[in-house]
Amino acid sequence: MDQIEQLGAMAQQLGCAYSFHEPMSRHTTFRIGGPADLFVSAGSRECLSQMARRANELEVPYLVIGNGSNMLVSDSGIRGMVIALTGEFNEITLPQPQQVRCGAGAPLSALCTFALEHSLSGAEFLWGIPGTAGGAAFMNAGAYGGEMKDVLFSCEHMTHDGEFGVLTGEALELSYRHSAYSYNQSAILFLNLQLCAGDQEEIRAKMNDLIGRRRSKQPLEMPSAGSVFKRPPDHFAGTLIEQCGLKGQSVGGAAVSSKHAGFIVNQGDATCEDVLRLISVIQSTVFKQTGVELECEIRKIGQ
Ligand SMILES: Cc1cc2nc3c(=O)[nH]c(=O)nc-3n(C[C@H](O)[C@H](O)[C@H](O)COP(=O)(O)OP(=O)(O)OC[C@H]3O[C@@H](n4cnc5c(N)ncnc54)[C@H](O)[C@@H]3O)c2cc1C
Repeated sequence: MDQIEQLGAMAQQLGCAYSFHEPMSRHTTFRIGGPADLFVSAGSRECLSQMARRANELEVPYLVIGNGSNMLVSDSGIRGMVIALTGEFNEITLPQPQQVRCGAGAPLSALCTFALEHSLSGAEFLWGIPGTAGGAAFMNAGAYGGEMKDVLFSCEHMTHDGEFGVLTGEALELSYRHSAYSYNQSAILFLNLQLCAGDQEEIRAKMNDLIGRRRSKQPLEMPSAGSVFKRPPDHFAGTLIEQCGLKGQSVGGAAVSSKHAGFIVNQGDATCEDVLRLISVIQSTVFKQTGVELECEIRKIGQ
């Protein structure tokens, strides 16, 4: 048995769902990405730490992902093991009247719905972001004037070696699309959020308003990974791209959205290579015409 097969056997012993050569196009909102050698769904801290420790012993790299809504995975896929969080990592509870403990694998829509049901305000800005709570903490996701930094006060995690720990407050290093988890290789397991008491109808109205704004401005009907570029200081990436005449520009199956120039959409058969080439066309054109350097917000994964 090679290392990947040994890890698969371990996943089976632990009762985790797993598959070999799993196409990552099934796990990214771009619908792009070649196969991961091994894809495992871990439903408990015990399973997760055992899989991580065994992967380290076997020197197999592993990566924890959320909903794949901010990732561009290479056409040759991911060597090693990809882990998605499920089971206990989907649970959302209320340990204190206005404090929510949210599993990192829970979709942001579930977190927002939970907050609404408990008349808790502060998380409305997350409504419509198609990621998990863990992915949102990792990225310090934000929209419409809110960001995770405003509500997230601690994260429970597992280090790459399989040890459990917590980061609180400033140690989370939350800044624009960045957190300590962007580089420390730990898996985020639970988020602790401080919300405040609100009026349920006002919360609902705010969520409806925000989703309406998204639907009118973003190409939600097509596969994408949201905004491709970070907001450059004093500019909006989408506006610069549009001003440079790049709306609708395409490479292979990837195109700059004609609805929102900050998005690249998969027209059906786009490859990672198409998207990378289009990104490079956009960056060089915008730099030549405006002098502004666009930095990618989406995470490039794989070779
Ligand atoms: C239509 C659309 C609209 C969007 N709108 C917004 C928006 O308004 N604002 C915004 O900020 N983003 C937006 N995004 C981007 C994306 O949804 C967010 O960045 C989201 O937070 C990513 O979450 P995810 O679970 O999909 O993470 P993934 O894409 O799965 O992962 C992103 C990174 O986080 C890491 N990661 C994920 N989960 C964990 C974990 N538990 N532990 C450790 N590392 C982890 C992954 O390894 C990867 O490096 C949008 C995307 C789309 C497709």
